[in-house]
Amino acid sequence: MPELPEVEVVRSGLDAAVTGRTLAGVTVLHPRPVRRHPGGPDDFAASLVGRTFAEPRRRGKYLWLPFTDGDALMAHLGMSGQFRLDDPGAPHPPQCRLEFRFTDGGPELRFADQRMFGGLWISRGGAELPAEVAHIARDLFDPELDLATVVAAVRRRRSGIKRVLLNQTVVSGIGNIYADESLWRARLHYDTPADRLSPARVRELLTAARDVMGDALAEGGTSFDALYVNVNGSSGYFERSLSAYGREGLPCPRCGRAIVREPFMNRSSYRCPACQRRPRPPAGAAGR
Ligand SMILES: [Zn+2]
Repeated sequence: MPELPEVEVVRSGLDAAVTGRTLAGVTVLHPRPVRRHPGGPDDFAASLVGRTFAEPRRRGKYLWLPFTDGDALMAHLGMSGQFRLDDPGAPHPPQCRLEFRFTDGGPELRFADQRMFGGLWISRGGAELPAEVAHIARDLFDPELDLATVVAAVRRRRSGIKRVLLNQTVVSGIGNIYADESLWRARLHYDTPADRLSPARVRELLTAARDVMGDALAEGGTSFDALYVNVNGSSGYFERSLSAYGREGLPCPRCGRAIVREPFMNRSSYRCPACQRRPRPPAGAAGR
């Protein structure tokens, strides 16, 4: 699943590609990506014609494309959804599912999706904050985020700190990759109970999460191509900059010990066994 930096790369690419442009026609090449639209593919296409895109928005990993009329096109990328900008009449990319044409006759937007876990649908009145996204917490790049409030929300949880980082209703945008990277930067074990961390320590961790995602975003920008609005969300070009995630058996960039991979919530966690030691049981638990 794409995490915040990957979705932000898509969002800013779409901003340059569609903002201010009006749809002349939409072709649904495969019905599955529009399965959430109640009226079916033909109604989906017909309801979009004549609408003008406003600036694409994002909260955490959630992306939407507001229209100037107050509705929004929701875009869930799933595992493999990609937007591309192509010249009109250019051959469709592999697994192209939708084509959006514009009244200005300029480049078309295409949505390709190999595995089709993603999807597009219209959110009525969703331009400012779609109902589908309202329960998602602000992310660490949101100018209206209050970091002290997030620190307090994290410290109210008793579960392991990585579970809390992945909880999109506490702070949004962080998935498995950037959780492991932030924990490595902050030298924390993923099972450390969140309520045992000091406010300063939580602040340090959240700052590390913001920094690592900012670094990833900066690298996403470098491989940006005008014709290629998006890449899919796996580690991609930032992979070479990862310190822990996906690096089982490779040396920790800080201390040289081999990174270990451990099962975590049906997936994996990567950590340095020296820099990120398992927390000791709380005082008083010994001998019980
Ligand atoms: Zn280390």
